[in-house]
Amino acid sequence: MKLILLGAPGAGKGTVAKILHQIDGSVQISTGDILRGAVRDSTELGKKAEAFMKAGDLVPDDLIMGIMEERLAKPDCEKGFLLDGFPRTIPQAEALDELLPKVGHKLDMAVNLNVPREELLNRLTTRRTCSNPECQAIYNIKSKPPKKEGICDICGSPVIQRDDETEEAISKRLDTYEEKTAPLVDYYKKKGLLLNVTATSSEGVVNTIKERLNQS
Ligand code: ADP
Ligand code: ZN
Repeated sequence: MKLILLGAPGAGKGTVAKILHQIDGSVQISTGDILRGAVRDSTELGKKAEAFMKAGDLVPDDLIMGIMEERLAKPDCEKGFLLDGFPRTIPQAEALDELLPKVGHKLDMAVNLNVPREELLNRLTTRRTCSNPECQAIYNIKSKPPKKEGICDICGSPVIQRDDETEEAISKRLDTYEEKTAPLVDYYKKKGLLLNVTATSSEGVVNTIKERLNQS
């Protein structure tokens, strides 16, 4: 399947992508993960992106398109792909429309995960992430704490709060989402590619996606 996952920070795009990957091997492509990797490795890209990310601002479109041109041309995308956190702006969506035919792909749909802002704030401020870049397991201090406080169940590395998950940065990210990314819902609706789902549980979202794909 070839999908865009739309939705605010904390809507569950990453979790849904991981479940969908299990189903048919479609690769999860998260621009956020790629950027965090670049920052960690202090690559040229990482150096350019770091300050924007810390502040909860979007990274400039040309840097993002550079990443995606390279990524979508890789052979593993033949199995399908799940775009998680991209596109984030109308110019990115337009650039993707031009890029896809060049790399021989066509989108099945754009799935919008709907979650109320209050619930997003609640999820994000309590979210914790495994600091091991190979693992990145996600926890929640209220609903899914690690068995041993502050230690990853899977790999034993410290579980931390991301730099951009302080209350101030989160609030900024949600505002940026409303302003820059929410208009994409209409963009894909006009193209007849939108599937809107209320994202109460990731399993529910996955089932709705499966039903829709079987219909078409
Ligand atoms: P979120 O949890 O906010 O969805 P991500 O992991 O997707 O976070 O992204 C983290 C940060 O990386 C964003 O706040 C932004 O600075 C940057 N980023 C990720 N994807 C994009 C994109 N498509 N366009 C611009 N900036 C991006
Ligand atoms: Zn871990």
